[in-house]
Amino acid sequence: MRVVVESEKSSSSEEDEGSGVELLCVVRNLLKKIKRRVLVGDKVLVGSIDWVDRRGVIENVFERKTEVLDPPVANVDHLLVLFSLDQPKLEEFSLTRFLVEAESTRIPVTLALNKAELVHKEAVTSWKSKLRSWGYEPIICSVETKIGLDSLQFNLRDQTSVIVGPSGVGKSSLINALRSNHFGFGAAEVDDRSNSISGSKWLEDQRVGEVSARSGRGKHTTRHVSLLPLSGGGYVADTPGFNQPSLLKVTKQSLALCFPEVRKILSNSQPLKCAFSNCLHIGEPGCLVKMEWERYPYYFQLLDEIKIREEFQ
Ligand code: GDP
Ligand code: ZN
Repeated sequence: MRVVVESEKSSSSEEDEGSGVELLCVVRNLLKKIKRRVLVGDKVLVGSIDWVDRRGVIENVFERKTEVLDPPVANVDHLLVLFSLDQPKLEEFSLTRFLVEAESTRIPVTLALNKAELVHKEAVTSWKSKLRSWGYEPIICSVETKIGLDSLQFNLRDQTSVIVGPSGVGKSSLINALRSNHFGFGAAEVDDRSNSISGSKWLEDQRVGEVSARSGRGKHTTRHVSLLPLSGGGYVADTPGFNQPSLLKVTKQSLALCFPEVRKILSNSQPLKCAFSNCLHIGEPGCLVKMEWERYPYYFQLLDEIKIREEFQ
């Protein structure tokens, strides 16, 4: 089995899991006919391999476990939510929005706080205890001084991860730091290879772009993204993910489950359930979730936002 590590207009490269040998592949016509688009992160079966020219043909795509849309990556099994302790300041509501968006994918989430060298130890300690009560054990790091990068590297091992967070917190810097540690190919080499691809896939993707432009969803559906192999095993997407959480996948009912502290209350009280099956945990009689939890005001605010959106849908 191989993993797609690069996919753009004209090329898609697959790497043998673990071996680091990369092949430039085209997609079997039959797959195109049944509209199976190959995404970065897809596990694929490659045939007709030419080891000299390092080329092959994608014969089949295995079923996806998960699919992240921004950036488009299949089989992501870990989201790293990155914020900075300062510059920009760590802000509870913004952090909550990102965490909720990340949790709504149901992909396991790790929280990391960057730029640790900019704040006092006491600030770090107090954030840590607050976040623990929210259900997170944050990794404290600094790309600048390299603190915590080994923990992050360890945390990302053997998984396909996407780094998400607001702009300015250091996502690109972190990806570069991880990249400088990776083995394998350089970006220039990949570009050379993509110039030498046959024309058929290029045409197909042109068409995809046009169709989506007509449906009003913007032209660049084939945004460039590739996976960087990590020295500890696993991959990280070279493009950071959603920096504006839309919460479009979150419903009134699913919102509470995007808060680990609420999930904990509800799972600890099983087999008991809130009296109403559609309880929104905002003071209904017989609700198991009390309203005194710390992030309740944020929950309430997001619930309001989702209610308004659902009304207009
Ligand atoms: P992104 O928008 O999240 O991708 O953030 P960038 O990686 O572009 O970083 C934004 C700014 O923060 C840049 O000027 C980086 O040099 C800086 N930066 C990144 N990591 C650190 C860090 O650990 N400490 C400090 N002081 N600055 C950092
Ligand atoms: Zn309830």
